[in-house]
Order: sequence, then C-alpha cells, then structure tokens
Amino acid sequence: MPEAILVIDMAKDFVYGKLKCDRAQRIIPNMKKLLESAREKSKPVIYVTDTHLPVDREMALWGEHSMKGEEGAQVIDELKPDKKDYLIEKRTYSAFYETGLDPLLRDLKVDTVVITGLHTNICDRHTAADAFFRGYKIIVPEDCVDAFTEKDHLEGLDYIKRIYGAEIINSKELMKRWKSK
Ligand code: ZN
Repeated sequence: MPEAILVIDMAKDFVYGKLKCDRAQRIIPNMKKLLESAREKSKPVIYVTDTHLPVDREMALWGEHSMKGEEGAQVIDELKPDKKDYLIEKRTYSAFYETGLDPLLRDLKVDTVVITGLHTNICDRHTAADAFFRGYKIIVPEDCVDAFTEKDHLEGLDYIKRIYGAEIINSKELMKRWKSK
C-alpha cells in the first residue's frame, strides 16, 4: 500500500495569521513526528498550500489569506519542508482541483493518501472527495487534522469516514504500522 502524506494548508496565515486557528497547536507536534517517520520510511511528503490570487472566489467568503508571494502563504517554521518533500500550490479547498497533485501521485506510484492539516471539515474533506473520485484509498490520522471547533472537526471526520470510506486512525498507530513493515 504505497502511501503519500498530504500536508494541507499548514501555512502561517492558517495557524497564526489572517485565519488563525488556535486548535492547530494540538496537531503540530503529532504532524512533526508523523512527517519525520514518513521521511525515514521514504514515503513521499507533499505539502499542498493555499496560494491565492486576488481574483480567487474564496476572497468573497474568507477575505484575503495565504496570498501568493506573501509571508502568510509560507508553511509554518515548525513543519518546514525537507529538501526531498514536494510543494504544490492550490487556489481553492481541494488539493487536487486544477493542481499537479494527481499526476504527481501517479508518477510516485501511490495508491493511498494520508490526509493531514487544516481544516477537517473544509480542505481536508474536499481533498478526500477528490481522492475518492480518483480511486485513492484514504487514511486520516485524527490527531493530525483539526478545525475551528470540536464540532466542525468531528463532523468533518465523520463525513470523510462515511462518504469516502476513509480509515480514521491515530498517528501513533499509523507509525507503528509503518515500523512493522
Ligand atoms: Zn483559501
């Protein structure tokens, strides 16, 4: 089961800036360990981050955030990408929508995506939908995704599990599985 780890929207604006989410603090240390473990096992780590242009539709809903060329669109220092990691820009919720993610996953011979990052009920959920449509299996470590509220987070998890058949797991369990292989 070749997996790639997707790191969604762990940009400065999402954690500390214009769309600040305090609950992101809970997942940062878990994500850090998971990404380190993935790199040790040579599993591709792919950052997919909002890199908005002023004409993007989301501007009307959320205001400017994670704008191309600005500091706020940079991945937070705590989860700084490694040289071998992949960086992909997106302009709306889904990591797949009009991005190079799908061809990259195919080139990497990946059949499973591990979705991490923000927000469980928005970008993670839309990314899960597109992964499902394209035939990828989906794993969500519940301690590596979060949302503005507990309710949003739990609803997001439940939806992704019920509708896209995702496996919801704890990151420790997932790393244990990687180690035993
Ligand atoms: Zn956005």
